[in-house]
Amino acid sequence: MTTAVVLTLHGVAPDNKTIAGQDVSAAKYTITRSTLIEIANLLKARKSCPLEAFVDDTFDGNTILTFDDGLISDYSEAFPVLQDKGIKATFFITTENVGKPGYMNQSQIIELARYGMEIASHGLQHRYLVNLSESDARREIQDSKETLQQLLGKPVTSFAPVGGHYMSWMIGFSRDVGYRAFATMIPGRTFNSRSDDLLVVRRNHIQSHHRSPYISSLAAGDSFLLARNQIRYSLLSVPKRILGLDSYDRLKRILTGSEPH
Ligand SMILES: [Zn+2]
Repeated sequence: MTTAVVLTLHGVAPDNKTIAGQDVSAAKYTITRSTLIEIANLLKARKSCPLEAFVDDTFDGNTILTFDDGLISDYSEAFPVLQDKGIKATFFITTENVGKPGYMNQSQIIELARYGMEIASHGLQHRYLVNLSESDARREIQDSKETLQQLLGKPVTSFAPVGGHYMSWMIGFSRDVGYRAFATMIPGRTFNSRSDDLLVVRRNHIQSHHRSPYISSLAAGDSFLLARNQIRYSLLSVPKRILGLDSYDRLKRILTGSEPH
């Protein structure tokens, strides 16, 4: 059995700047370049690998870095830092946003893959799968995989549902269409016992207000912190179920100014 702490990042802004075109609420998930450098230094000291290598057991990484949404800053800000530190990460791409303003284009994604970054799927249109018909949700999971595979000429084996929201059949369907990792937003440590064809992955969200001591404790797999975050996540799942995701998000937007991720 191997274990890893998987971290989730979104946009990376040049220090003292916000990403052009990004709205205020998205800034909640944007970290600065210097914070990314601090994280990269932590990961350099610990072992790190893309999710696919951890799942395949070809590399026993302690900490795994994942980036959601395929934002242009993955290429312009994060890629140079990761190259400099020799870190391979996983990038979850929303396929229909590829090439749109604010997002990476095809050649940038191919360049990441050539360097050894894992290119993974975040669906077609960045929609909550639980709000879609079953056939639309299946298309989001399967068609995005095929689109990326055509672009890269290699299998795409990791999938992350938008917002980490899913129904249990989606795990089975993802396994059936050839995914090996299903990345949730449930916080905690991920154990790979290699007992299933598909690994359900826990991920720990890094937000702009998180500071180095918190991030280093998280990356080091601090049991108290991981347990606290798991409890918080479980408590929030109650209003999500009662209100439904759309009303929950509206309430969350009013209270915190945050957007789905
Ligand atoms: Zn997202």
